[in-house]
Amino acid sequence: MLLLLCKDNIFFCIMIKPKKYLGQHFLKDENIAKKIANSLNNENLLPVLEIGPGTGILTKELLNLYKNLTLIEIDKESVEFLENNFSNDFKLIQGDFLKLNLSEIFNSEFCIIGNFPYNISSQIFFKMLDNREFIPELCGMIQKEVAERIVSKHGNKTYGILSVFIQLYYKVELLFTVNENVFLPPPKVKSAVIRMTRYRKTIGNVDEKKLFLVVKTAFNQRRKTMRNSLSSILKKETDTTNEIFNKRPEQLSPEDFIILTDLIDN
Ligand code: SAH
Repeated sequence: MLLLLCKDNIFFCIMIKPKKYLGQHFLKDENIAKKIANSLNNENLLPVLEIGPGTGILTKELLNLYKNLTLIEIDKESVEFLENNFSNDFKLIQGDFLKLNLSEIFNSEFCIIGNFPYNISSQIFFKMLDNREFIPELCGMIQKEVAERIVSKHGNKTYGILSVFIQLYYKVELLFTVNENVFLPPPKVKSAVIRMTRYRKTIGNVDEKKLFLVVKTAFNQRRKTMRNSLSSILKKETDTTNEIFNKRPEQLSPEDFIILTDLIDN
């Protein structure tokens, strides 16, 4: 994109060609950037990690709010731009968030924010879940359709694996939608900002690996009842007379999946 910048009262242009394969859609509306930055509650002023800062429109707002800011950006050109145009009041890592060893960078809890690369948003959330012990809050812009799936309650068609996994640990809120014409280039999909606030780190007595397996196996054949879709992982002696086994996965709340896993295990 062609960026018009003002530095020391001199206007100049630079070219950063948005790279489609990196999901680059640069936000151009500062008010929306401000709104996203303010959507993170971060009551305890924990360190903040921004994923995919690009040319730094959101970074600029975050710098007004936080002293402890880390950026992870995969694109060399964007990294150079950030280095050259911002005072370095942040830690800037060039690399792939999905490959980042979070424990090497943070030794305590931190929050995540970003106008995320939409092509890897689900993977970002799975990584958040794997590291949930350290991540009490995440706030970011993603494809609206994915945001709707995440906040979807049981009983809805859009309710699925991601909804269950995330809602097992995080309170999820779709905060507002964002029009495509505030991006350069405009994405083909609608966008929305979502907030996730952790309400527990672990689930009491249940075997979480088993729970995840149950959820995945069930949604693999979402039209079937639990008795049928789970047959491959049920033991012969498992008592499936409970009414829950007559249901289809989208009829079960995250808590129901915990109950179900308990029934299967005992
Ligand atoms: N936050 C900026 C840019 C959003 S576009 C803005 O609002 O304008 C998404 C950004 O994520 C791009 O800068 C892209 O280079 C970066 N990105 C894509 N894949 C990434 C990955 N795996 N790890 C880190 N950053 C990534």
